[in-house]
Amino acid sequence: MQIFKFGGASVKDAEGVINLGRIVSKHQGNPLLVVISAMGKTTNLLEELVFAYAKHGGNAFDLLDRAKQYHHGIMEALFPDSSHPVYNDVANRFVEIEWILEDEPMDPLDYLYDQIVAVGELVSTTIVSHYLNTIGLQNAWVDARGLILTDNTYREARVDWTATESRIQSELPGILANQLVVTQGFIGSTSENFTTTLGREGSDYSAAIFASCLGAESVTIWKDVPGVLNADPKWFDQTELIPELSYLDAIELTYYGATVIHPKTIKPLQNKNITLHVKSFIDIDNGGTQIRATQESLPVPSFIFKVNQVLISILPKDFSFIVEDNLSDIFSRFHQHKIKVNMMHNSAVSFSVSVDNTGENVQGLLDDLKTRYDVQHQNGLELITIRHYNQQTIDRVLIEKAIIMELKDSYTCQLLVRKLTA
Ligand code: ASP
Ligand code: MG
Repeated sequence: MQIFKFGGASVKDAEGVINLGRIVSKHQGNPLLVVISAMGKTTNLLEELVFAYAKHGGNAFDLLDRAKQYHHGIMEALFPDSSHPVYNDVANRFVEIEWILEDEPMDPLDYLYDQIVAVGELVSTTIVSHYLNTIGLQNAWVDARGLILTDNTYREARVDWTATESRIQSELPGILANQLVVTQGFIGSTSENFTTTLGREGSDYSAAIFASCLGAESVTIWKDVPGVLNADPKWFDQTELIPELSYLDAIELTYYGATVIHPKTIKPLQNKNITLHVKSFIDIDNGGTQIRATQESLPVPSFIFKVNQVLISILPKDFSFIVEDNLSDIFSRFHQHKIKVNMMHNSAVSFSVSVDNTGENVQGLLDDLKTRYDVQHQNGLELITIRHYNQQTIDRVLIEKAIIMELKDSYTCQLLVRKLTA
């Protein structure tokens, strides 16, 4: 049993869907579960729609039209027969958003978000499932909300593993034995059947959940890059493919901000010893990257860049030391404001952390911390993490940058820097 996961970029247009069909058709005969994200930038568009609706902004219906037209264009290219049932099925999905928009936004934003944004995945899988049928790949469209059960932390729902495992194990193997299964990434539901989402880019995590519960042989994430690279091509001209990675190295890379795989994906796979392949959907015969239990460490230094960082420095008002009770108080405030620490350093009298500048949340945290501590902050910084660093790699990233904070251990070097302006 294998799991394939296709992200938004792989199904951003009709050609992408056709290509997905080509990849899946090569695996005929082996039980296969296909997990798919929303097409292209649909999630961003639906996100914008939710915010417009919640603010009573007039353009929520315009944004809905844009989403409909975009999918319509893809369907027209794939299904020339305008009476094909896919048109009706997709229209019905969008009607669910219309119904919400017709009422006043009374429900909490995060709840509304999940009910609306999940439609992106429901629509993409509906289109792909119909398309695969038309090319002779008979498949079952399965609603992931009946399988992945979560709590009600909307937009960042936590999986109820026991309930999910028992649902998946009782419902999927029977279907998989006879048919290809197509399902959604990113979405789940509460025990009361309200739709939830697992956090942005959460489809990789969905694939790992299915794999873990089914005891799959492997998961393959099909991407627009050749595999896991030693740096994001957005920042580096010359990148190298890493053919093999240990689970631990993969977890560390994503922890420090490598966006190639969702951070929550690796752990469930590691627990069940399931290999993760990251491969190119453009160059499908290229081996890509294999992530599995191996003692090998990264053969090449890897670079991870995170821009838009804020350095927050916290000092007790009374010149006392930063001791355990200050630290636990500080961490609980970070937790309350849902802020993740990217880098931290403490001395006797101060504690400094770098966090993503997420705007409102960070301001809330700063205001809160100021009630008990002296707090300073600096915006506009960049965090560079180098795994398996040496002096040469450090010099390479420091061109026209000034170091604000630096941390090194034997594998990892983190540099918080400011760009020098000419
Ligand atoms: N469609 C969702 C997102 O864009 C989930 C995913 O792509 O993994 O965040
Ligand atoms: Mg995506």
